[in-house]
Amino acid sequence: MARRKKIYEGKAKILYEGPEPGTIVQYFKDDATAFNAQKKDVIEGKGVLNNRLSEFFMTGLNNIGVPTHFIRRLNMREQLCRSCEIIPLEVIVRNFAAGSMSKRLGIEEGTALPRPIVEYCYKDDALGDPLVSEEHIAAFGWASQQDMDDIVHLALRVNDFLSGVMMAVGIKLVDFKIEIGRVYEGDFQRLVVADEISPDSCRLWDIETGRHLDKDVFRRDLGSLTDAYTEVARRLGVMPKNTGPSKPTLIN
Ligand code: C5P
Repeated sequence: MARRKKIYEGKAKILYEGPEPGTIVQYFKDDATAFNAQKKDVIEGKGVLNNRLSEFFMTGLNNIGVPTHFIRRLNMREQLCRSCEIIPLEVIVRNFAAGSMSKRLGIEEGTALPRPIVEYCYKDDALGDPLVSEEHIAAFGWASQQDMDDIVHLALRVNDFLSGVMMAVGIKLVDFKIEIGRVYEGDFQRLVVADEISPDSCRLWDIETGRHLDKDVFRRDLGSLTDAYTEVARRLGVMPKNTGPSKPTLIN
């Protein structure tokens, strides 16, 4: 049997060459990292949960006409995606102050923002993904003005979709990060939502209790990360209701 070609290995995922040209296979690992990989652990079942949750969100976005790289889930840990050229930016949308914004600006976590705020970080682990402005992005050629207009539009549509989906299951979408890829179609390029959307890349708070149901559970040692992600999956109907909270035995 031929060994498939690894294209890239990141902190939480591995990308392999896909079965057809223009496709990749995205494999979700159980590795959890925070603070630019200064804190690390292996959390059994996390990859399985994120694969399912990201499938759920990306499928929903595709269905409402927000283009994503997601094609279909292949198995418990892998999904088939369109290959794209990743724009080297982390696009963050915030509805409530939290995390680095609260620290940077001295705003109490949980404070509602007057409107969704979109921020950009330059993707560079060695530099710790620094916050950058549209001026930097244009000056260094990471994305054009037209790309930036499209990126803001995509980010806000993702925000509306995710906020609504989460609100319906009693969860507040505090903030999230997405990555954007370029897909080439003949002479044209299209921007699509790429990478993953999961509790690793969102802040999700239970509306009633304020319980954290996202990666802050790992970052801040707030309990079991698997329990938190399983709770999100359960509420969204991604897992059967009778599955115990700490056993991610998901429907294939
Ligand atoms: O840390 P910060 O407050 O800037 O994070 C904002 C949002 O972006 C959080 O939901 C966090 O999980 C996400 N994020 C991410 N990957 C990073 C940095 C932030 O998914 N490298």
